[in-house]
Amino acid sequence: MLRVLPHTRLDQLAGGKKGSQEALAKLGLHTVGDLLHHHPRRYIAKGELSTLADVEPDTHVSVVGRVVRAEVHPYQDRRTRQQAWRVELVVAVEGERLLLTFFDRRKHIADWRIDRFQPGTVGIFSGKLGEFRGRLQLTHPDATLFGTEGDAAMEFELQPDLTPVYPASAKVQTWQLRDLVKLALELLDDWPEVVPRSVRRAHGLVTGRQAVEWIHRPADRTQVERAAEYFKFAEAFTAQTLLARRRVALRSVASTARLPRAGGLLEAFDDQLPFELTQGQREVGEQILDDLAQTHPMQRLLQGEVGSGKTVVALRAMLRTVDGGGQAALLAPTEVLAQQHARSLRAMLGPLAEAGMLGGSDHATRVTLLTGSLPTAARREALLDIASGAAGIVVGTHALLQDNVDFADLGLVVVDEQHRFGVEQRAELTAKSDRPPHLLVMTATPIPRTVAMTVFGDLETSLLTEVPRGRAGVQTTVVPISERPGWLDRAWERITEEVAAGHQAFVLCPKIEADPDDPAGAAVESVADLLAQGPLSGLRVDRLHGRQSPEVKDRVMRGFADGDIDVLVCTTVVEVGVDVPNATVMVILDADRFGLSQLHQIRGRVGRGSAPGLCLLVTRAPQASPAFERLTAMSATSDGFAVAQLDLVTRREGDVLGASQAGSASGFRHLSVVADEEVIVRARGAAADYLAEDPALDAAPDLMAAIADLETSGRGDYLERG
Ligand code: ADP
Ligand code: MG
Repeated sequence: MLRVLPHTRLDQLAGGKKGSQEALAKLGLHTVGDLLHHHPRRYIAKGELSTLADVEPDTHVSVVGRVVRAEVHPYQDRRTRQQAWRVELVVAVEGERLLLTFFDRRKHIADWRIDRFQPGTVGIFSGKLGEFRGRLQLTHPDATLFGTEGDAAMEFELQPDLTPVYPASAKVQTWQLRDLVKLALELLDDWPEVVPRSVRRAHGLVTGRQAVEWIHRPADRTQVERAAEYFKFAEAFTAQTLLARRRVALRSVASTARLPRAGGLLEAFDDQLPFELTQGQREVGEQILDDLAQTHPMQRLLQGEVGSGKTVVALRAMLRTVDGGGQAALLAPTEVLAQQHARSLRAMLGPLAEAGMLGGSDHATRVTLLTGSLPTAARREALLDIASGAAGIVVGTHALLQDNVDFADLGLVVVDEQHRFGVEQRAELTAKSDRPPHLLVMTATPIPRTVAMTVFGDLETSLLTEVPRGRAGVQTTVVPISERPGWLDRAWERITEEVAAGHQAFVLCPKIEADPDDPAGAAVESVADLLAQGPLSGLRVDRLHGRQSPEVKDRVMRGFADGDIDVLVCTTVVEVGVDVPNATVMVILDADRFGLSQLHQIRGRVGRGSAPGLCLLVTRAPQASPAFERLTAMSATSDGFAVAQLDLVTRREGDVLGASQAGSASGFRHLSVVADEEVIVRARGAAADYLAEDPALDAAPDLMAAIADLETSGRGDYLERG
């Protein structure tokens, strides 16, 4: 007899028609393993069938009934103006009549239904109960048929108490999947066990083989639950074991320890700091300096609220690296930010950054900016400084690492606001030399704990929650202009008032240029023109966006930082990192087009000085709409983690992870990084415990294979791409 394994292709199991293989492939089902991992969406319980007497419209019902009449009616689809077919079944349920309706665009599908639902056929029909012209109706219900009158009763008796309903498509019906799964389970020779016995025992889990039987053919709800529990855990455990092994591997890589130097740069810098470090900055700083003193590379993620002062923490780490004889690279996501970082690092360091210059301090170093737009001569000079080691601190975009730029002794890489700095780049960095540099990744985008544990599972995490004292903060207000158009004028008045008081403002638009396909969308170029000619005509208005040349961007940013520009009309190029404490107003047009975490970042550009910031979220969304409610909820909190949580409930998980493939956006089949925090935490502990006993996974070949599979499939990357 044919035996199948998880990697057996489905055509070998089902044989047969090319069309059905294609239809299965569309559901992502290529192998027996895919099929058995395609779990039922829900189960219909025989004992829990609804009776029509007590059902309410809009609820989900499953009923047993007999088809009394089946008819097909052609009609014209109002939207597509195409011919379509409506199949109407009248089904007798407990002496009452229920209307079942299917809409089909293909005649042969409608005919197939008529054929299938011959009068007399008995089955379970389930779907959402609606009302149509005063009659109860199910639209596109799932159907499990037992045959016609005579043999139906017996068939029904033979049905399991719980009938699985699979996520299906028009071409592959749930009952076809049910038959295929049944066959696969009967022929299944072996099912890999990724959770070793000791771990299963400690966590009260069934075996994988048991779980796969129970998820597809449960005797009762408890079996469904125990099976589902196994699959979630198995998936989390595999991922966490992979990540734990990566952490261990990193620890065995050698790196240069960067040790303190008495009377060095860091001491000199700390002595001249114009402000006192917050407690968080001190603690995280110590942690990082401690990491730098180790002989294996630091891998640390620093999460800090917008404006919590991550830059100075990074700078202190960079100075320690220079004190320890190395160089530090600071990578920014954009040229604008790289330029700003270079400027502000030089400003913070003062004479300490003026090595070799008149007035430069004795133990000074140099801050070198290297971006794609440097003129050739300047670029050559920068490269020379980097190669000779004269540049202790090098700032640029991450082209800095790709452009085979030669460092004399790269000791630390700081990645700012770019948690997309993924596993490949991290691996590249580690492979760059036999002594890879220490790594610090910084982000203000709050990452929920579970995501941090999976996506950044190989990084140690530090948190900076406190914002320096003396920061006035931001008040956020939603401005609905569809109902109250006059409020927009009020926004421009507020800007005028703030500028009169010596402050500056941002006006942020989702687009650069007006788009004929979206005439209503606010665009930088047209808004800047309108404002300069109209409501803000007396003010110095300028613009900033991604299509400008790097020189123009730099000139505008500098002009704004120096106070030569009152109002900056811009795109999200200012989303992260821009630090102009004198700016107090942020007007965001079409605010509903942005994600909440993004809005939180953007509003963090104001209220950074001693004057309070004001953020106006302008939207045309009606006041009763979900978009408006989302904005209102976000305006009520200033806590980035709360905003991220709000974002989580309104966005799909895939967006959180930034992955784009539909379906398995997070890369997990059964586990939700949003909802299954408890499982992930447990699996992380279990993975560490198990690896302590069996570091090479000698006793767990199936687990080893699953990990190798995760690595080579590329799906392992999601774990860290973010
Ligand atoms: P972020 O964490 O968002 O990157 P920055 O590092 O840009 O924040 O810091 C924001 C501002 O706060 C900067 O102007 C910085 O000089 C200032 N700052 C940082 N730490 C402190 C502190 N302890 N006290 C006062 N101001 C600080
Ligand atoms: Mg920053």
